[in-house]
Order: sequence, then C-alpha cells, then structure tokens
Amino acid sequence: MSFRNLLLISFGAMLTAVVSCRDKDGDINIFSIQDDLTFGAQVSAEFEKDSALVVLDSASYTTQYAYLYQIRNQILNSGQIVYKNEFPWRIRIIRDDSVLNAFCTPGGYIYFYTGILKYLESEDQLAGVMGHEMAHADKRHSTDAMTREFGLSVLFDIVFGRNQGQLARIVAGLKQLQYSREAESEADDYSVSYLCPTMLDAAGAAGFFEKLLATGSGTNVPQFLSTHPSPENRVQRIIDRKSTLGCTGTNKNIAAYAAFKKILP
Ligand SMILES: [Zn+2]
Repeated sequence: MSFRNLLLISFGAMLTAVVSCRDKDGDINIFSIQDDLTFGAQVSAEFEKDSALVVLDSASYTTQYAYLYQIRNQILNSGQIVYKNEFPWRIRIIRDDSVLNAFCTPGGYIYFYTGILKYLESEDQLAGVMGHEMAHADKRHSTDAMTREFGLSVLFDIVFGRNQGQLARIVAGLKQLQYSREAESEADDYSVSYLCPTMLDAAGAAGFFEKLLATGSGTNVPQFLSTHPSPENRVQRIIDRKSTLGCTGTNKNIAAYAAFKKILP
C-alpha cells in the first residue's frame, strides 16, 4: 500500500494500515514497492549526474553488458526473486579500477565498478556478488532500515502535509545507509539460493571473500565489508548453506570470465 494514499483516511485507520504495510515476505515496511522504484530511479539518476563518474555506455559496450545480463537472468530465473517483474534490474558498469565494490539501489538498479570486475576470477564469483547485491534490493533492506530509522514520523509528516523535501531527505538517507549484519548475512544466504538451481557453483560469493582473505583488498575496503560479519565467518556460512540446500552446480567458467575481463576497458 502506498503511504501517500493514507492522506485520505483517519488516524485510527492509518495505524491499522501501518500494521498491514507488509511486503511479500511479511516484513513491515512503510514504503511501497513503487516507493522503492522511485527511490532507486532518483538515487541512480543523482549518482550518475556526477560528471567525474564514467558509466560505460550500454549501447557501445554491448558484449560486456550482454555477459553481465545473462548472469543476471540466471539469478532472475531462479524462482527466488520476489520482485522479479516489478523491479528493472538494470545493470551499469562504472569505469574505475580503484574501486573494489558493487551495489544495488532500492528498486533494483545494479552497479559494478571495473575494479571489482577485474578483481574477481570466475563467473561463479561474479554471480555470487551479483546475487548478494540483488538480494539487498529484493529483500528491501534499504527501505526496511529506513522504516526503522524514520518510522512513523515520516508517515505522520506525509499524512499531515509536512512532506516538503521529504523525498530528498530519504534519498540522502539512502545514500549513507549501512546495512545491518543481519541484512548482510541474509544477502549472502540468498546469493547461494539464487545460484543453487543453476550450473554454477552456488558458493561463488565465498570465492570472493576467500580471495580478499588471501590477498587483502588494499586501501579500498568495500563498503559491504567495512562493518560486517568477518570474511572468515561469511565464507563458512556460505559454504554451509550450499551444503544445506544440496546445491550441485560446480561450474566456475574461469575461461569465459577471463575473456570478459579482457574486453573491459
Ligand atoms: Zn551487502
């Protein structure tokens, strides 16, 4: 339910409505799916406005994008993405080899820096990281956290018409939002679930953390590692989950991934 619709109803009915603001997973979230989409479009547009940012043009780098999209499609077709049809799941590559990061906005706008794409060594690692990021959007971790942070005060502001600048405030909040440890663990878990029905090694994300443990990430510690469960614990949890779910895929497609890296600028 859109919280904007609540303008028309009474206070008592409003509280009932808040309690009923559950998403498809049953979590209470005062933001609607349309809000997630709106925030995602705003955050991505604002992010890409930065003139220092080089986003690879999807019309010029068709082979590179096609490779990423076929991985994405395997995840979308896992049958586990709740908002498969509602979110755009658009991918953009940012040309910056110094940044070891990927992220996904609410509403499913996915970004990969060339730094992390070149750091990863196999297709299952890429798919594991992609699945992790997509899980943050599909599980609505950003707006769940915003609901906890702003809660009813946002709702009251909107209902009582004090909503000037509210969206800007929310978008600003989203940009600096850190996911909780629980959200990180859930995203790791779902990265395994998404890959489980594919031919790929479902523990792909663990390979990424293992490499970080072995080589260090240098000066650019990714945001999703900075405050969260230790890489050692995450590796073990991912491997355990693959075993629990009985995932049988073993493909790493190292040669295909190396070919992809070769054609990155
Ligand atoms: Zn994360």
